[in-house]
Amino acid sequence: MSAVNTLLITGVSSGFGRALAEQALDAGHRVVGTVRSEQAGTAFEALSPGRAVARVLDVTDFESIDRVVADIEATVGPVDALVNNAGYGHEGVMEESPLAEMRRQFDVNVFGAVAMMKAVLPAMRVRRRGHILNITSMGGFITMPGITYYCGSKFALEGISEALAKEVRPFGIFVTAVAPGSFRTDWAGRSMIRSPRSIPDYDPLFDPIRKAREEKSGKQLGDPVKAARAMLSLIGMDNPPTHLLLGSDALGLVRDKLSALKDEIDAWETVTRSTDGY
Ligand code: NAP
Repeated sequence: MSAVNTLLITGVSSGFGRALAEQALDAGHRVVGTVRSEQAGTAFEALSPGRAVARVLDVTDFESIDRVVADIEATVGPVDALVNNAGYGHEGVMEESPLAEMRRQFDVNVFGAVAMMKAVLPAMRVRRRGHILNITSMGGFITMPGITYYCGSKFALEGISEALAKEVRPFGIFVTAVAPGSFRTDWAGRSMIRSPRSIPDYDPLFDPIRKAREEKSGKQLGDPVKAARAMLSLIGMDNPPTHLLLGSDALGLVRDKLSALKDEIDAWETVTRSTDGY
């Protein structure tokens, strides 16, 4: 990224959002960051008075998103890059997890991100430039038992990102889905929503998964500052990727998944071809 740009990043209180905001500010850019409390906003703006601008916004407050984005464009300036980072993980076996928790997971991780994209796109389209980064997850490629709703939401955001990229590329707008592996943020700590257990049949599968995730929280391999630098390097590129994995764990697991998927497609090719009728 060369010239001074304005980034709009959702969820800058901690983790990837905070690290990316700090890296962008250090590089001389302006960052409008969304937070969910006035207190978090004050702390964010103190990072770089005048260049760090906070807006209080829950991304599920769909009624407010257009107004907040219009206000940012009018008072701070054109948004060159939107980073849909706000999100959280729901943990729970599907059969045990209420539908309301799935709705909330998709409201934040999918509908919130889409509402933000719909809010910035009109002005980006008029300007014929812009970049949208959607933080998905390796869970948008591979799946793991015990985070079914989360994987579903990240698969959705991966698919939406890829299709949208094809729709807006003619307008000079890029869309990149960034899929991190396990990183040292608050994701598996204070931010995770864990459904209570109720069905003993799942104990052998799920108990070790929950325990391992709790024990690993705070000790993950991935460094969010290094992820932030990688993300920042994409903005302003002539030809940024549509998908980017971050972390060697994501690389290994996603490669294995794609190779197993290819093997399964090949193994069933005869049945697949057998349904052509005309
Ligand atoms: P984090 O430290 O918990 O940060 C999450 C951020 O999202 C916080 O700023 C949080 O705000 C904000 N947020 C959550 N729900 C929100 C809502 N409804 N409206 C507005 N903001 C909301 O975790 P993180 O790992 O940096 O998470 C950032 C993104 O990375 C998420 O989309 C996550 O799924 C994804 N991701 C993380 C990992 C990982 O290993 N860490 C891996 C793959 C993908 P509050 O402070 O107000 O809660």
